[in-house]
Formats: sequence, C-alpha cells, structure tokens
Amino acid sequence: MSEWCQNPKCPEKKNQNQIRGSKGAKYYQSNKANRYGNGNFCTLGCQTEWNNEYMDRAIDALGVRIHNAVKINLEDAWYVEYSSSWRNQSNEDEYYLRNKLKGVRQLITKQQAQTPEQQAEEYNSWQHINNTQAKELAIQLGLASWHINQFNIYYRYYWHLVSSIFNP
Ligand SMILES: [Zn+2]
Repeated sequence: MSEWCQNPKCPEKKNQNQIRGSKGAKYYQSNKANRYGNGNFCTLGCQTEWNNEYMDRAIDALGVRIHNAVKINLEDAWYVEYSSSWRNQSNEDEYYLRNKLKGVRQLITKQQAQTPEQQAEEYNSWQHINNTQAKELAIQLGLASWHINQFNIYYRYYWHLVSSIFNP
C-alpha cells in the first residue's frame, strides 16, 4: 500500500482534478493511491502502465520468476465448496468436500466444513477450512487415496515395533 499512486507518469494524465497551485504557478500532481494493485495505484490504467515498465524487473529483482508450470497433483487437489441456502434446492447452507481431479463431490456437515472459530461467527456461513485442512478431512473420511498415508501408517507401526523392542 502507498499514499500516492506509484505510476511516475500519473500526472501526465493531466486531469482537471490533478491541478494544484495558484495562478501563474500551477502544476499537475499524482493522485492518491486507490484500491488498485494492492493499494498502490489510483486507477487500473496507472497499474497497467507501471506493470509494462517495471513488472519484469520486479520479478527478476525478487528472484521469484517461475520457469515451469506449477502443478497441484491429484492428492492435493482438495477444497471445500460452499453452496448458500438461497442458491440450492435444499434451502440450507451446504458444504461439499471437492476434488474435481478425482471426480469427488461429497456432502459434509457445517461442523466438518468450518473451524470452531468460523462456526462461532454466525453471519459468516460462507467461510470454510482451507485446502490443506480439506485434504486432512478427506483423509479422515477415507476419501483420499491412502497410498501415501499407508506409508505413514507402516512407518509409525515400524517405530512402534522398534521402540517396544528397545524399551520393553
Ligand atoms: Zn495514477
């Protein structure tokens, strides 16, 4: 967030509302920043102009350029889908545990869909657990493929055996 529009060419718009100063000493000045670009620009136009000039350099300067497509695999593609009462046929808020890549759309309860904190907030029924928590729920409900978990279970069992031998 910034106080002033971050596009250095902002005053070049020469809008009426950018005029300041008294007669004989008038000038144009930048606008205050608005909601655009995370609160750094006055308009979408200024944001675009800044992007064209600086975005590539910003990405490279931060060292965050992505060179390969980012992937979310089958086992991590879980999320909660909210269906509000006024949009569905049951006339009740509904929550689904979703994984389109696996073709799963499982109706879950509000208690499963929300954290205790979210449940306490009466008027925020659209809120729900994040994608990591959705995956955990899928595992709990036995909907997630258990290959990865199976390894974990074996591993825990193995350690249980090893500890019981050495700590009888
Ligand atoms: Zn601007």
